Amino acid sequence: MLIVQKYGGTSVGSVERIEAVADRVARTIKAGHSCAVVVSAMGHTTDELVTLAKAITRDADPREMDALLSTGEQVSASLLAMALQTRGLQARSFTGWQAGIFTEPVHGNARLLHIDSDALNRVIGQGIVPVITGFQGISGDRVTTLGRGGSDTSAVAVAAALEADLCEIYTDVKGVYTTDPRVVKAARKLETISYDEMLELATLGAQVLHPRAVENAKQFGVRLVVRSSFHDEEGTVVMEATSGFELREAVTGIAFEREVARVAVVGVPLQRHGLATVFKRLASDGVNVDVIVQSVVGTDVVDVSFTVKEEDADRTVRIVRELQPELSFHDIVCETGLGKVSIVGAGMISNPGVAAQMFEVMAGADIPIAMVSTSEIKVSCIVQADAVERAVKELHAAFLE
Ligand code: ASP
Ligand code: MG
Repeated sequence: MLIVQKYGGTSVGSVERIEAVADRVARTIKAGHSCAVVVSAMGHTTDELVTLAKAITRDADPREMDALLSTGEQVSASLLAMALQTRGLQARSFTGWQAGIFTEPVHGNARLLHIDSDALNRVIGQGIVPVITGFQGISGDRVTTLGRGGSDTSAVAVAAALEADLCEIYTDVKGVYTTDPRVVKAARKLETISYDEMLELATLGAQVLHPRAVENAKQFGVRLVVRSSFHDEEGTVVMEATSGFELREAVTGIAFEREVARVAVVGVPLQRHGLATVFKRLASDGVNVDVIVQSVVGTDVVDVSFTVKEEDADRTVRIVRELQPELSFHDIVCETGLGKVSIVGAGMISNPGVAAQMFEVMAGADIPIAMVSTSEIKVSCIVQADAVERAVKELHAAFLE
């Protein structure tokens, strides 16, 4: 088999950890497999590099920011290549451009365009283990980065380009859990989860995988396994939902977020098409809007309310205020200190009363719901931030214990 193994920051966080990773790669090769490795930066290196830049300027040139951040992965890639060599294996480090990883011309959050895998295929054919820097690529003569947590996406893309049989994501948890085990002791590791469920969970705030990595894995049919580099236990397989998935329990996992703000634009004259104007403007300013509710008040006025990340709240209010002359709304109100709790499960498709059951659990726990949004496989409720943990515990007990 050709296996792509990706090791996250804690997995390569020290010399000892890098040695342990090298042992694991060596075992994989000894078992008769070929291996390509993708690494994150050691420990909190990327955060430390961000801090260094901030100490120089609050307004760093994006090109230089990416040049700086991409160095973290180069350290771990070359150290791991050395560690593999001391074990008698042939290994070679590859930066993004050396590995032929091309991205769009965007700094800080670039999407991958394609991978020219000739160089990687050549070394793998020669029995050399390529150790590739995650999180970075190239656009023209510029080094680009893929956004925080982007090494997962690098690994999946490399696995797709090499047509690998398997992409293993090694991290510091044993797999994907029904919810965060730090909040709910009874949280269980899942054996399997569908791409769509994983994508919902990752997007809804579960930190274990980068959403874009899941999107790409689904698109290219990459078989993904999330597992721990600290244990030998089997992890969680992320795969296409088979018909069996719809027969599973209605809820597979619970995700949550704490720092949510709600912005309400009150009294927008109906004929002004407030929704189109507000959301076009916010999108072009790069504000990510989540749950949206529009309600018609009387015959000719609407209220529009939506949620954003708390850190974007002030900017959002400022942007919407600028639209006041055009929209002539009555008022704008911003509420912070909110959170979001979501239940996710492919089994919901064939299981009607799940939303009702969720609302019942919340009512039973006396947690008021401020807003709701749903998709085929999830229901999200906006609640007070200080009720989030309690909601997660109650929902886990009701659906997953
Ligand atoms: N080192 C980068 C980060 O911390 C990328 C990654 O680890 O996935 O965001
Ligand atoms: Mg990560």
